Amino acid sequence: TCGICVEKCPFDAIEIINLPQELEDDPVHRYGDNAFSLYGLPAPQEGRVTGILGPNGIGKTTAVRILADEITPNLGQWDDEPDWDAVMDEYRGTELQNYLEELQEGSVTVARKPQYVDRIPDRFDGNTRELLEHTDERGVLDDLVERLSIGPVMDQPIDSISGGELQRVALAATLAREADFYFLDEITPYLDIGQRMTAARLIGELTGTDRSVLVVEHDLAILDLLADSLHVAYGEPGAYGVVTGPKSVKNGINEYLAGYLENENMRIRPNAIEFEEHAPRTAAASSPLVEYPDLTKSYGDGEFSLTIEGGTINENEVLGVVGPNGIGKSTFAELLAGELEPDEGSVDARLDVAYKPQYIEIDQPMRVDAFLSSITNDFGSSYWDTEIAQPLQLERIMEQNLTDLSGGERQRVAIAACLSEDADLYVLDEPSAHMDVEQRVQATSAIRRYTENHDATALVIDHDIYMIDLLADRLLVFDGEPAASGHAGTPVGMREGMNSFLADLDVTFRRDERVGRPRINKPGSQLDREQKRQGEYYYAP
Ligand code: ADP
Ligand code: ADP
Repeated sequence: TCGICVEKCPFDAIEIINLPQELEDDPVHRYGDNAFSLYGLPAPQEGRVTGILGPNGIGKTTAVRILADEITPNLGQWDDEPDWDAVMDEYRGTELQNYLEELQEGSVTVARKPQYVDRIPDRFDGNTRELLEHTDERGVLDDLVERLSIGPVMDQPIDSISGGELQRVALAATLAREADFYFLDEITPYLDIGQRMTAARLIGELTGTDRSVLVVEHDLAILDLLADSLHVAYGEPGAYGVVTGPKSVKNGINEYLAGYLENENMRIRPNAIEFEEHAPRTAAASSPLVEYPDLTKSYGDGEFSLTIEGGTINENEVLGVVGPNGIGKSTFAELLAGELEPDEGSVDARLDVAYKPQYIEIDQPMRVDAFLSSITNDFGSSYWDTEIAQPLQLERIMEQNLTDLSGGERQRVAIAACLSEDADLYVLDEPSAHMDVEQRVQATSAIRRYTENHDATALVIDHDIYMIDLLADRLLVFDGEPAASGHAGTPVGMREGMNSFLADLDVTFRRDERVGRPRINKPGSQLDREQKRQGEYYYAP
């Protein structure tokens, strides 16, 4: 290995990764002897949204705790009493000087949205209205409630609302606070694309004044839209993390995807992450796994009704499922699994369906290895290690307790558990939630390889457009009125599917000229209008 990593090299480094220059200097903070060290800090800027892009466990929260004055950085001298004067000497003349001076004077107030909104109900006992009114220091609640569509759950107890609702409530609660510095740790989990874009817009509007916003986000299309500048974070999760100086958002994301940081002359990954610029050619038709006729299903007294156009799902394919929340995607999966009976039409095949739900609730105090070996007899076989454990990076967490896992770790265990089942159809509902970019890419290739090698079929519901682009062979597009009526078309090719999905959202993507990465067009820009006229919303013709 290259000597940087304390454990096995995560990249099986074929080329030596340069020792970062920064590691020869003192860190900003070290938790203890041989403990995690952080090098570099992001610099919040007044009136701007600063993004941080990097893996989990790399010190982003540590950096924010420093910027929120919860930790006084010790400059690596963990056994001495930390001293702000020494820190100020260190940062004089840098972008951070002003901010740190204000922080030291105690004149910086901080509002923070936590990463795991699922935990809010454990700490707050009451309904949505009570939570939000308590935080409405700016008197902007009505507008936030309206634009984030929180109205329907205002009088519901916080412990009864869904993850997507909690995410929007947490965002509203944070943005309603009066603060100088807002820190948002992941805004997209459980939100659909329309909701993600609304959140990005609201955050952008917040900075019109002298407030500064720092955002950690792994949905690159949204990060691109949201941030004014970007710090890339890299290193060895759990061992050390380096936060680069500010970059333009475009360069920061491009360099991150390319795996090479230009100013730093630093390779952070052996391979680039690449996107298809043109819709992939329709794969040679494999045999059908299931053919289903037109179906309908409604709940209650027709409060919600779903119509599904008949179609075919093929063996060996990954079918991407896109559409807003509350539109019937999970209901469709349950119809295929035979867990629900349709009102009209019938699904003949009784498919064995393995299902990874959107919200992963694990409360058993059980180790990861014990849990996974209770699901499959293949556990521990070299085949299982190669196909599942390695691509999902499970080795390092096998001995941990399920209850102690981070969100991204929990997600990987849940995907592994789903793929380890013996099934005809694997349904994965929002696998991207809480995973960092690296983990999304690895999970994508794990799911793809698994379906190819096992004559299996996967249905992947996700709102990260990059992940869907990298993962899916075809698309099943849902539209309609959330919580009222849903409609699904028949599965179609990627170009046709992206076009109908994005036309419904009224969003077009252009390609970054250097790396072919899809980027959201400014609404009403020349490209936006031209592409809409041509009906090409995603893949350039
Ligand atoms: P991120 O936000 O990027 O996921 P964190 O800043 O939360 O990363 O954590 C970075 C590393 O620092 C992790 O390995 C974590 O276990 C370690 N760490 C965090 N807080 C402490 C602490 N108080 N003492 C020792 N190690 C810590
Ligand atoms: P999606 O997966 O697209 O988010 P779902 O299929 O979960 O959508 O739900 C679609 C709509 O049906 C939502 O309004 C939801 O509240 C409602 N719904 C889901 N399951 C039930 C049920 N068992 N009884 C009544 N309403 C339901």
